Amino acid sequence: VQRRTRQRDAIVSALKQAARPLAPLEILEQARGLVPRLGIATVYRAMRELLEEGIAIGVELPGESLRYELSGHGHHHHFQCRDCGKVFEVHGCPPGLSKLTPKGFRLDSHEVVLYGACSFCLNTAA
Ligand SMILES: [Zn+2]
Ligand SMILES: [Zn+2]
Repeated sequence: VQRRTRQRDAIVSALKQAARPLAPLEILEQARGLVPRLGIATVYRAMRELLEEGIAIGVELPGESLRYELSGHGHHHHFQCRDCGKVFEVHGCPPGLSKLTPKGFRLDSHEVVLYGACSFCLNTAA
């Protein structure tokens, strides 16, 4: 149980440090800095538990496999870099979305995804 707790803690810190949604392999890579012998099955099991407990939430972008982030970040959107594929959090929300809603319709929610190149990719481009 202690080993499991240590693995879970490493996974939560990985997500906290990244401060952006991580794919299971990214979680594994980051968390291995803390628990070198961590395996991908443990990552999947821990993420299932963390989702059930509401500590993490799933982030599903169109055409992408599930990523995870810690819950409690409030309403936000995401930016995906088309070069490295990483997903970042975007704070703020485009105004005027209710004006786009057809007359007589009720708007309940929205999805906004920004695509482009992240600063790391832009700065390392030759
Ligand atoms: Zn990038
Ligand atoms: Zn929004």
